[in-house]
Amino acid sequence: MLKVDNVSIRYEHKQVVRNFSFHVASGDVVSIIGPNGSGKSTLLKAIARMLPYDNGSITLNNVNMKSMSSRDIAKKLCMLSQRNQAPNDISVKNLVSYGRYPHKKWFERLNDEDMQIVDWALEKTHLLHYKDRPISALSGGESQRAWIAMALAQRPQILLLDEPTTYLDISHQHEVLQLVRELNEEMGMTVVMVLHDLNQASSYSDQIVVIQEGDRKVTGSPDEVMTKQMIRDVYKMESEIQHVIWDDAPRIHLVSAVK
Ligand code: ADP
Ligand code: MG
Repeated sequence: MLKVDNVSIRYEHKQVVRNFSFHVASGDVVSIIGPNGSGKSTLLKAIARMLPYDNGSITLNNVNMKSMSSRDIAKKLCMLSQRNQAPNDISVKNLVSYGRYPHKKWFERLNDEDMQIVDWALEKTHLLHYKDRPISALSGGESQRAWIAMALAQRPQILLLDEPTTYLDISHQHEVLQLVRELNEEMGMTVVMVLHDLNQASSYSDQIVVIQEGDRKVTGSPDEVMTKQMIRDVYKMESEIQHVIWDDAPRIHLVSAVK
């Protein structure tokens, strides 16, 4: 459903992503991994049409996204950045209700149905009892959930997440990724996310895309992608890879830097 074909992206004269292609099937969870500065956020922003790209194309359900209106895109796709900024005094419920506006006409007010969707998004993210709290009074994990609730209220087909677990401690990282998995499994939401942690990418993804200095290094299932050779080539680390019983995803133990 989402196809990135031969896309190149640059900032002024610096080429950051080169002839990049990958396809995301409807209902899949796809993670983009790669070292710092390799172009992951840049790629995600281009998909969300926050950045222009040079050649190639990005299509959603076979329609070139360049020909879609911003409103149409906002109905189908929602991106959460690494650091999301809301005015501090805004309440959780108000933040989440912003997700409804792409579906409304100019100056049209939210109706009962919109408010039901907002409540549903709050319930899904276990934030109903925090709905009147200011965003500034939430913990990191709760705040991340509030942004995901806003994205849910938008009812997108595709959710783009840029390192949704950064700044969270491990139990909250797990909680956010479990929520992402729930949304994927229960609602069929397609997810494309940038993840830092190789084991999280391995456990939570159907497909993994590896980017290295703006080039697509490899893409495939966690089993296909998570190899000692890939980790050596891309991260310059020696590793051991093990299959654990409970989720059958390859588990990576980093051992030492490549000598
Ligand atoms: P990642 O998300 O993989 O860490 P980014 O996509 O943020 O990497 O950045 C890729 C490269 O593009 C880096 O070299 C970064 O310095 C550069 N870059 C990112 N944003 C900008 C910008 N606004 N202007 C110029 N260069 C940028
Ligand atoms: Mg980034």
